[in-house]
This record gives sequence, C-alpha cells and structure tokens, in this order.
Amino acid sequence: MKKLKRPAEQTRKRRMDNNQAANGGDSKAHKYDFFKVVQGYLEEASKAIDLQDYIQTILSQPKNEIIINFPVKMDDGKIRLFKGYRVQHNNLLGPYKGGIRYHESVSLDDVKALAAMMTWKCALMNLPLGGGKGGVKFDPNSVSQEELQRITRRFFHALGNNIGPDTDVPAPDVGTNAKTMAWAMDTYMNTVGHVFRQSVKGVVTGKPVSCGGTLGREKATGQGLVYCIQEWAAERDFKLEGATLSVQGFGNVGSFTSLILSRLGASTIAVGDHSGYLYNPEGFNPHKLQDYVKKNRSIAGYPGGKQISREEFFRIKSDIFIPAALENQVGEEEAKVLQTRLVAEGANGPCSPEGEKILIDRGIDILPDVLANAGGVTVSYYEWVQNKRSEFWTLEEVDERLEKAMKRAYREVVEMARQKKCSMRVAAYAVALQRIAAAYGERDIFP
Ligand code: NAD
Repeated sequence: MKKLKRPAEQTRKRRMDNNQAANGGDSKAHKYDFFKVVQGYLEEASKAIDLQDYIQTILSQPKNEIIINFPVKMDDGKIRLFKGYRVQHNNLLGPYKGGIRYHESVSLDDVKALAAMMTWKCALMNLPLGGGKGGVKFDPNSVSQEELQRITRRFFHALGNNIGPDTDVPAPDVGTNAKTMAWAMDTYMNTVGHVFRQSVKGVVTGKPVSCGGTLGREKATGQGLVYCIQEWAAERDFKLEGATLSVQGFGNVGSFTSLILSRLGASTIAVGDHSGYLYNPEGFNPHKLQDYVKKNRSIAGYPGGKQISREEFFRIKSDIFIPAALENQVGEEEAKVLQTRLVAEGANGPCSPEGEKILIDRGIDILPDVLANAGGVTVSYYEWVQNKRSEFWTLEEVDERLEKAMKRAYREVVEMARQKKCSMRVAAYAVALQRIAAAYGERDIFP
C-alpha cells in the first residue's frame, strides 16, 4: 500500500477506514440495510404480541419522506448543493419527534430506520409524541462555523411548515448540538411573523438553556442510559464502583455517559471516535477529555492515552461496552471478540442482528437502543412541555422525572421479555407496539 506522508492525508485516510467500518464493519462488507433491520424487529415483535396485520402494515413504512436539495454559499463564494431529509414515520400519539443528523453517511433508508425507532421510543416512554428523523448528508467537521450556520438556516428554511411545535419537532443528533438548534429555532421564528414568534419556541428541543432549552437536556441521553445500567447492575448485584468501560463515540452521548458513570466509580479505559481509538488502563478523566473534544472536535491528539486500532479497541476487556457513535458497529467480527458483560446501546442500531445473536449466545447482556437511549427524547419532551407552559423546571425536577420514567420503562421491558421469552430488544418494541395498537384500536382509520 502507498504510504501517506502528510498528517492531513493520514487523518483523512483514518476517517475513511472508520467510515467504511461504520458501513459494515469491514471494507469488504456490502451496504448495511438499517431500515430492513428495523422492519425485521417490527415483524418479530408484532408476532410476539399478535399485533393486528393492518397496524403492522401501516407501521412498516413512514407516512412522509421529505427530500430537499438546497444551495448554500460557501466561504469561498462558491455555491454548493446539499441533500437534506426529514422522514415523518408516525404521528398517531402526537407530533413527529426526532433528531437531525449531520454526517457524510446520511441516507434516506437510514433516516427511515431512525424515524421508525423514534416512534417506538416515544411510545415505550409513554410520551404524547410520534416518530421522525432528519439529516443532511455532509461532514460537519469539514466546514467552517459560518458555513455550518448557513447550511442549518437554509435547511430549516427549506423545511418550512413541514415542521412546527405541534407538527414535527426536531432535536440534536450526530453532528448537531444545542447551537444548531438555536439557529434552527431562530430561522423558524423568522418565518412565522412577529405575533407568533414567542409561541413557537418549542419547534425544536435540545436548545441552549438561554434560548428556551431545559436544564438536564444536554446530558439527558447519557443520564437515561446510566439509570438503565443502574437497574441492570442492581438486578445482578453488580458493583459499578470499580467497574471499567469502553466507549465508542465521545460526543454528546458517549462523553456524558462516561462522565456520569465516573461519579459512580466506574472508569473509562478505552475510547474511540471518527478520528481513531485510545487506551488508558488507568482510566481517562472524562471531564478533561470532554473539554478537549469540545475544543478540538475529536479525541485525536489527546495526551494521556495510547493510540490503538479499531480492532484492538474491540478486543479490550471491560465490564461495560458503550457504543455511542453510529449504527452497525458491532457486527459478527466485533461480537465474537468483545470481552464484556454488558453492551449498553447509547447509539441507535449499533449492533447488527448477526452481532446481537453472537453476543446473546456468548451470554453478554444488551440494553437495547429503543430503551437505553430514550432519555434524550424524554427530556426533550420535558423541554417542549416547559415551552408550552412558559415554565422553567429545576435540574432536580428533570432528573427525578427522568429517573422514574427510565426505571419504569426498564421494568416493563424486562417483564415483557420474561413473558414472551424474547430478547430485550424485541420486548422494547413489543411494549411500544402494544401502546400504539391500543390507540389504533380505539380510533380506527379515517375515513
Ligand atoms: P455526536 O455527534 O455528539 O457524537 C457522535 C460521536 O460518534 C463522535 O464522537 C464522532 O466522532 C463519533 N463517530 C462518528 N463517526 C464515527 C465512526 N465512523 N467511527 C467511530 N466513531 C464515529 O452524536 P450523539 O448525539 O452523541 O449521538 C451518538 C449516537 O447516539 C447516535 O447513534 C445517535 O442517534 C444516538 N442518540 C443520540 C441522542 C442525543 O440526545 N444526542 C439521543 C438518542 C440517541
């Protein structure tokens, strides 16, 4: 293989390797059909609870798939065309709800899969919300802040009335954050006329607290994941104090999970992101690493860890493995070598069905995404409610509600898995589908 000399080329090469890995575990792999995977679980869970056929048929495809090609003026004066998506899966229980992803791998099928999962997640958490998801296909690390702002504003302007506080409420996901949501809200507000401006704050959630966001939203997904891990640990008499973690993806979800678990005495010994992987058997300082990533946009160059390959990362022994990056990261190869007791899915769809089967056969527990990372949308719902009522809740109030909600959902999923003798993932889908089925049963279909 030709040797790459310049560091920028090396980073680009490493990113390509990691992105290939994101799309199938290794470079030989065919395209991973995430939507088909989600449809497969829908089928399995529908069978487990004898879901009526017509409900499964409706839920097997989203209601609306919006694709927008929009132009943006880049810093060099050139116009670049971007492709954005918003998929609205189901709004039986309430407005569509779900994040906006900025990533070079964004595709319609992936967004459809993620939107469907939002429908299950909101139903599982008993929220009066439906499921949606969106994204723009580009690498947010390759543009300036000014370009990022213009891309965001153009995209949200183009979405227009397809979103709204009572219609469809986006939030942050991979590559987007509170700042992105502030631009999104401001753009939307400027399209509705000054009389309505203040009443449409709830058009997006995950906003900065100064702009109508809620306390506790930034850490919510990590916090929710930790509440689930605590329940799992309590059931097994497993001590989190002294436990070790491997965390793939050190963005919002990965970094807050690592940080909150460190307060319970668990230490992160291996981390990875789009730029590479690091190992430190003494444990990373999650505060310092989080600050570093905020400044440098990746873990690359962080002092205090040894560089390792993706393959080495998956072989490191730790008590809990936290995938918090992208889908399809734990395929057959990774599942065979992971040395852990629990895979707690911070990311959506991180285990392929083949990977999941191997993990289960090897006796490794899985806390499935639909349950495990539902803390984000739950606190987004709290933000939306506060915006509607012009209220401002304390952090204690938010955390207390979230803890109750996560632990209730955890117990319902465990109970369903026990009753139906199915995996936790199928059980999480099943609890959600029962709630959706109850609403369809009462309302029937128009006309
Ligand atoms: P983020 O953008 O803050 O972080 C994403 C992380 O993944 C970054 O560290 C990035 O470097 C890493 N990454 C990207 N491509 C990678 C690759 N090819 N290999 C390894 N690492 C890679 O995003 P986030 O909000 O933390 O989301 C992470 C996951 O959690 C996603 O699956 C998302 O859908 C899910 N999720 C997020 C929320 C939320 O509230 N933000 C809620 C529920 C689920």
